[in-house]
Amino acid sequence: MKSLEICEIFYSLQGESNYMGMPCIFVRLARCNLRCSYCDTQYSYAPGNRMSFEKIISEIAMYPAKVVEFTGGEPLWQEDTPQLMQILLDMGYKVLMESNGAMYIDEIPHEVIKILDVKCPGSGEAGSFQRANLSLMAAWDELKFVLTGFHDYRYAVDFITQYKLEGRVIHFSPVTTMLPAEQLAEWMLRDGVQAKLSLQLHKILNLR
Ligand code: SF4
Repeated sequence: MKSLEICEIFYSLQGESNYMGMPCIFVRLARCNLRCSYCDTQYSYAPGNRMSFEKIISEIAMYPAKVVEFTGGEPLWQEDTPQLMQILLDMGYKVLMESNGAMYIDEIPHEVIKILDVKCPGSGEAGSFQRANLSLMAAWDELKFVLTGFHDYRYAVDFITQYKLEGRVIHFSPVTTMLPAEQLAEWMLRDGVQAKLSLQLHKILNLR
């Protein structure tokens, strides 16, 4: 029986994608290959509890929603993650994945909605994004830039222009302790940026 190292499984509203606001079961996988300066899930770096696919699926089935999101840590750090995604798709779940973008998505089932970070300089991990992922993304996949200040904002805008990403769903998500959302909104309006301001709904509502 296949298994994965799990940090936690919990139920909340999806907080930062086109699926924002939907009830969602989160499977947070243990371990991450990056160390972002603003990371709010450092507890996921440690080894997790090894759980069989069967046990993970039974925990997911305890909740009433039919949307599952794989997150981390980095969900692609464990090579068996795509197999569990396929099983859940076959069971009729909508499957989302938030990844740090530093690993190839070529093994991920096509139907999975992939939300990929492009790390900016303020993260300390700029350059980690696998650019080949841009051509592997499906039309429904999304990109997210977490921004700590104006330098990151310029980096994100230049990245969109350089790789001609204007037609894609792109989220600009401020680290609000470093970049007030109002300031980011002002820049986006001034420049008519083809991206969406994304605030973390679950944090606004004091959910998990
Ligand atoms: S990729 Fe995510 S989990 Fe990993 S260090 Fe960065 S913010 Fe934290």
